[in-house]
Amino acid sequence: MQHNKPIIIAIDGYSSSGKSTMARRLAAAVGYRYIDSGAMYRAVTLYALDHGMIDSEGQPDADAIIGALPSIKIDFDVRPDGTQHTMLNGVDVETEIRRLRVSDAVSPVAAIAGVRHALVAMQKEMGCSRGIVMDGRDIGTVVFPDAELKIFVDASAETRAQRRFKELVDKGSAVSYEDVLANVVHRDHIDTTRAESPLRRAEDAIAIDNSHMTLEQQDAWLLERFNEVTAR
Ligand code: C5P
Repeated sequence: MQHNKPIIIAIDGYSSSGKSTMARRLAAAVGYRYIDSGAMYRAVTLYALDHGMIDSEGQPDADAIIGALPSIKIDFDVRPDGTQHTMLNGVDVETEIRRLRVSDAVSPVAAIAGVRHALVAMQKEMGCSRGIVMDGRDIGTVVFPDAELKIFVDASAETRAQRRFKELVDKGSAVSYEDVLANVVHRDHIDTTRAESPLRRAEDAIAIDNSHMTLEQQDAWLLERFNEVTAR
């Protein structure tokens, strides 16, 4: 018998693996709240960039950023059409946080233990009422280790860079494919080798490589996994 107790769904994976799209579409299909945890790391990074806390080599000043955390307020504004906009201290920064300038600087910021502790605490709080789909790097391992459904998404670096490149070009950014690929590979390296909660698949996560899947195939696959868990 199907029951309706809302569950927590954790979707982790590599940069630009399409996990946000999967997570957003599943949340819409089952009427859950979607939270993009990467947007929170990006918002902190944007604040740090705009306040001179990251040097020209891309090295963040960890103490300055940790000290500034109480002045950094991050919210998500849900629009009537269902899209979410990341708000940094009341300002819509959704476009700004997706730029290559932020993508290039975010992984070293996300490796700072004090930043992770603060954001993980906020993320846990957001999951209190359950009925949530959250995507990121450490959602199934650290934020919600007890999530009922955990997915780990992968795709080749070239496929991921191609998708990201297309997304940026469609938004009007003048970027080169080579720069986007370099950023994807660089972030993978930092995200998987950092000391504090590195990106790894939780033992109980279901892995999916979506390199050769259409959006519709992805949606159907994910909805099946959701139905399996909620029917238990
Ligand atoms: O998901 P997205 O690519 O937008 O995330 C941006 C960066 O934020 C990642 O490269 C990673 O360094 C960091 N991140 C993280 N933990 C999360 C989500 C994102 O470290 N849960």
